[in-house]
Amino acid sequence: RSMSSVTIPPPPCMLRPLEAPLRYLFGPGPSNVPPRILTAGGRPIIGHLHPEMYEIMNDIKQGIQYAFQTENNMTIAMSGSGHAAMECAVFNTVEPGESVLVAINGIWGERVAEIAERMGANVHTMVKTPGGYFSNKEIEQAMEKYKPVLFFLTHGESSAGLCHPVDGIGDICRKHNCLFLVDTVASLGAAPIFMDKQNIDILYTGSQKALNAPPGTAPISFNDRACHKMFNRKTKPVQICLYHHTGPVSGFFALRESLAILAEKGLEESWRKHKEVAAYLYRGLEDLGLKLFIPERDLRLPSVTTIAIPEGYNWRELLAYIMKHHQMEMTGGLGPSIGMVMRIGLMGYNCEKTNADMALHALADALKNCKKSKA
Ligand code: PMP
Repeated sequence: RSMSSVTIPPPPCMLRPLEAPLRYLFGPGPSNVPPRILTAGGRPIIGHLHPEMYEIMNDIKQGIQYAFQTENNMTIAMSGSGHAAMECAVFNTVEPGESVLVAINGIWGERVAEIAERMGANVHTMVKTPGGYFSNKEIEQAMEKYKPVLFFLTHGESSAGLCHPVDGIGDICRKHNCLFLVDTVASLGAAPIFMDKQNIDILYTGSQKALNAPPGTAPISFNDRACHKMFNRKTKPVQICLYHHTGPVSGFFALRESLAILAEKGLEESWRKHKEVAAYLYRGLEDLGLKLFIPERDLRLPSVTTIAIPEGYNWRELLAYIMKHHQMEMTGGLGPSIGMVMRIGLMGYNCEKTNADMALHALADALKNCKKSKA
């Protein structure tokens, strides 16, 4: 056979049209993307170095500064998922051998601890079962003991449905010469966060939750303390994250539109709406006889609600029923919360009482039609 002949034929699947059904994305993300953002993402591509693109990147920077409530100059949208931002934060600020303290109360702290460990940091963890939270006193005691250069906390713990208090922790970190890194992938736009006022040194989020953009771009911001640590390191970072590359132009168009929607609506209104719809959902869930996983109302994450698995039911069966009969995604737990919770996310554009009603109706239908085992 000649070297130039094709031996692998076109795969039959490629000769069929793309199938991507319309689905209600009422899980912990991604959320549905509104037509306005889809349209922005569908605009003709321009070069990533064209002047218009610089302007768009600058708009995005300002949109993130508003969403994060920060004046940090080092504020960018990364090409990548929330995990990419998580890695970027740790890889760039921590050097091998340095001490890192991670608060674990669900899967996201576990992930950060693993990333930091793999890059050679000396990782110390504070661990609570999913839904648990840490007092400032506990955090300060651990900081005195381990003397970390970086402390990680998840603001919106989406695997547990917990919104962790942040006030005062930034000050404790400063006192102990430690950087404060906060994950707001699941909470940004849904629950208040004030990067500058709360003395958060590094903050990141994702595009696909309350911002309602497609997955793949991740806003991140570093303050002067974090930049100083990054630019004065003795060793080169394991991974260069802030480098020149061909950015995901369509993703940035969409992200710009999602930040514009947030700016038009206003942060306060977005936070208020998430809280209002979440409270409405809680009432409906309780009326169905379901128990909310986080007992303290003030600690519940307004974007992702966790329900204790109702006794006698198989959670996988309930979720499969809802997907099959209602074209609706709800999910189970993740990492340590698997088998403990079912999760409903109503984020950004999806955050409406009518959607809460649809989710409640689907759940009621599943509870009625899925077998309850006596086991
Ligand atoms: N942190 C939190 C709190 C999240 O909810 C998620 C996504 N579920 C991530 C990080 C990871 O983001 P991504 O899936 O975009 O990598």
